[in-house]
Amino acid sequence: MNILVTGGAGYIGSHFVKFLLKKNENVFVFDNLSRGHAEAIPGTVKFTKIDLLDYQKLKNALSRERIDAVVHFAAFAYVGESVENPALYYTNNVVGSLNLIKAAVENGIKKIIFSSTCSVYGNPLKVPISEDEPTKPINPYAESKLVIEKILRDFETAYGLRYIALRYFNAAGADPEGELGESHDPEPHLIPLVLQTALGAREKIYIFGDDYDTEDGTCIRDYIHVNDLADAHYLALQYLTDSGKSDIFNLGTGTGNSVKEIIDMARKVTGKTIKSEVTARREGDPAVLVADNTKAKNILGWNPGYNLEDIILSAYNWHRNPKF
Ligand code: UDP
Repeated sequence: MNILVTGGAGYIGSHFVKFLLKKNENVFVFDNLSRGHAEAIPGTVKFTKIDLLDYQKLKNALSRERIDAVVHFAAFAYVGESVENPALYYTNNVVGSLNLIKAAVENGIKKIIFSSTCSVYGNPLKVPISEDEPTKPINPYAESKLVIEKILRDFETAYGLRYIALRYFNAAGADPEGELGESHDPEPHLIPLVLQTALGAREKIYIFGDDYDTEDGTCIRDYIHVNDLADAHYLALQYLTDSGKSDIFNLGTGTGNSVKEIIDMARKVTGKTIKSEVTARREGDPAVLVADNTKAKNILGWNPGYNLEDIILSAYNWHRNPKF
């Protein structure tokens, strides 16, 4: 299949590209390299440096190739930044995606897999969170992703586009072969920050609140390995191709780990004393976010295989020897 991956130079997109190449698929990457890394794109893929906000260039680029399906990762993904600068998020994520979806439909492309997020649920009423949970985003990043899901739904009604939206929980870990990993600047995510502390790049890790209503008082999240996410995208694409049915799936392991458990596992994996200090809660952090992944398991046949130790070990190996 000819598969276009937008954001293929980014963290999750680059792992998916590698996964596709192992499946012998024909891969095209569109990325503006604003936050992705050119070094993450293998020489065997057809790469176009393009910004989704440049509609004309996008349309022309799509008309030159015979693309069967689009897997759309390209987006900005910092919650804090989206609160400070909502226009950036609505422009880059919503307008960029609208351009892509419009240009895809105009070029006769009928299948899109879309990177969404569990943050569309905001503060959920019920945990584990199923796809039936009402969507109530509490920041512009999550709102931008939900708007794009709605655009996809409306394009299905109007033009017969078929899509799968995948709502990820906390993407984590790195390519076990050490070629790819998470490299964000600034880095807001817990696991990379804990590992940077283990490696001496930071003095300590701050725990954002230990007075939550959880067993050890710290927030619980569902950490899912990037390769398990890559696998789910591939299964979603196969499902969409076979069934022709649009749908939405949560992607998480179904198991939650607290901030303290993450730090303890990082201590075990690295053998380092990782200094930690409890500080104030971070605004907007729900106490517990854990996926009910029954739907993805039953319908896509997805079975996430990496446990927390694998996640932290693969991430540690990357942070010890990052390639970019
Ligand atoms: N967290 C923390 N210290 C940090 C960064 C994150 O205690 O330096 C906590 C954060 O409050 C959340 C969890 O770790 O409960 C995961 O945060 P991250 O930013 O990795 O992902 P999010 O759940 O916000 O998408």
